[in-house]
Amino acid sequence: GAPLATTCAVAAAATRGVFIKQPETVEQLPSIVSVGLDKTGTLTTGEFGVRAQETFEKMHDLAVEPLNLAAALEMKSAHPIAAAIVSKAVGCVGEAYEQDALPAVKKFRIVEGVGIKGEVKAGNTFVTVHVGNKRVLDAVNADPTQQAKFTRFQDSHPDDTVVAVMIKGRLALGLALNDTVRRDAACMVEELHRMGCEARILTGDAASAGRSVAATVGIDPTICQFSMHPEEKQQWVQKEENSKRPTLMLGDGINDATALATATVGAAMGETSAALAAKSANMVMMTDRLIRLPQCIRLCRYALWIQR
Ligand code: ADP
Ligand code: MG
Repeated sequence: GAPLATTCAVAAAATRGVFIKQPETVEQLPSIVSVGLDKTGTLTTGEFGVRAQETFEKMHDLAVEPLNLAAALEMKSAHPIAAAIVSKAVGCVGEAYEQDALPAVKKFRIVEGVGIKGEVKAGNTFVTVHVGNKRVLDAVNADPTQQAKFTRFQDSHPDDTVVAVMIKGRLALGLALNDTVRRDAACMVEELHRMGCEARILTGDAASAGRSVAATVGIDPTICQFSMHPEEKQQWVQKEENSKRPTLMLGDGINDATALATATVGAAMGETSAALAAKSANMVMMTDRLIRLPQCIRLCRYALWIQR
């Protein structure tokens, strides 16, 4: 069995809402020098709202509004952005209603680090729909005029997560969304710094939205990584580990499950996280109080000190 101090640390963490899955994690937490923080759903609540929208091209031949075509596709997605787009389209209502109100979807696919795509019923035909970040424009070989339009939209909403709705390969609609930074995200960062850990944001979101959150929580944006593909998060963690910098990755696992699994300590956000994330993590935050994370590291340092 584990030493008594370790068992006590696991129990003390649990009463503070942090579930440590194995006793070994208590011995690893004190050595952490590098912390990778996911943005969406981790530093932020993941409860998005659509703040602005812009129509780029009127699709006169379509039987369904572009927003509803996008929402139909988002019904199949578990991404935090999805719920906001669905409720913008149909109002904040129950699932049964949404299913009736939105057209049918086939060939739904998640494109990691980009967004989603599929075919959505519009009248008596199916049309190809893409919803995602700037990369969806590349995916459909959008012409430079469309690229420029979307870039201008993105630049006019620098703090927001900006999403393009492409219908039949044409830029139809731009949506600007944002969510809220968790109340003690800045406290957590301050405490991590005080303990000698280097903390940085690793996000799939664009640089502008990422820098805005970095400023809010007190992280130097120049050490953060933006527009990351899920495997780039994993590779970044691997690089730290290879340089003998024990790393903790905190994420909600929508796209960082492999990074969580690679880190010395993977920590999953319990309330918002995908089931997969909790499985690949060593510990699960059952609370939205991010300050509990550095408190747990302190607790484990103390537990190891007692055992010496
Ligand atoms: P983070 O790393 O901050 O958690 P994600 O990797 O989950 O961010 O998302 C990266 C980006 O991919 C989002 O900012 C968004 O632009 C795009 N994206 C991912 N999933 C969707 C979706 N279902 N609908 C629209 N855009 C999406
Ligand atoms: Mg996330």
